[in-house]
Amino acid sequence: MLLAKIESWLVRVVTVVVMAGTLLLGAAGEAAGQDSWMWRLETERLTQEALTAKAQTQGQLYRVKKGDTLWGLARNLNVDLEVLAAMNYLTPGDVIYAGQYLRLPVEPDKSYQVRPGDTLWHIARQYEVDIKTLMVANRITKPEALQVGKIITIPGSPWSMAVQGRPVSSASRLREAWLNWPLIGRITSPWGQRGKEFHHGLDIGAKAGTPIKAAQAGTVRFAGYKSRIYGNAVEIVHDNGLVTVYAHNSKNLVKKGQRVTAGQVIGLVGSTGRSTGPHLHFEVRIDNKAVDPMLYLK
Ligand SMILES: [Zn+2]
Repeated sequence: MLLAKIESWLVRVVTVVVMAGTLLLGAAGEAAGQDSWMWRLETERLTQEALTAKAQTQGQLYRVKKGDTLWGLARNLNVDLEVLAAMNYLTPGDVIYAGQYLRLPVEPDKSYQVRPGDTLWHIARQYEVDIKTLMVANRITKPEALQVGKIITIPGSPWSMAVQGRPVSSASRLREAWLNWPLIGRITSPWGQRGKEFHHGLDIGAKAGTPIKAAQAGTVRFAGYKSRIYGNAVEIVHDNGLVTVYAHNSKNLVKKGQRVTAGQVIGLVGSTGRSTGPHLHFEVRIDNKAVDPMLYLK
């Protein structure tokens, strides 16, 4: 699935590379000389098709603003983080910097003519778009009364709106699920109200000594004995600002300030702190507020 997506983007990436080359060489073209590889790529590919593709991809280069993250852009663009990263020869955990240029995927609008038996839900699912997006784009108020023969516009990537910080569709929120499971085990206690108290994490049962893996790349902001409740714990701040917490560890294997990769072993399961048996207490925090980890786990 992902590979297929990357392949489909590859065609566009090539055209964007051509465009980037044109832009870069526009100013420095003479200085760089016509025998530079970009120039050759440009002249070789300037067929009618390439020109059309180029026209469609105008504006695909995006200058990173302060506060932008790959994760945030992917969410706003409604594209897979992995695809956006791959298009820019980056990995999903990489930090991006203000002023840096990124290639953004732009999916052109498509159209579809309604056939007998079609429903809007069916069309939405077929094109992997949110049904509300389809309704808004086509000014449909009664999705159940879809007319055969009607031309439906399937909106492409809303990148121009998205990068300006406009609200994104609910469908794209699902794509926030980007954390890997720190370990595989039975959920012994979910996040949420637990009797009189609120459980701020997700408990995953595992044998003492089971390796705990970083849910994503990031920087260790705490590693040590946290409290009589958490026991030995590790906290990782990810590049999008999300924080993950791993508690009750028998041993922490990383140090404060250390950079970790996704899946790197950061500690071992234990029962330190307030714990009735070996398990991992896993928390996800946004602005220091604990949120349900299940919403973010893949
Ligand atoms: Zn817990």
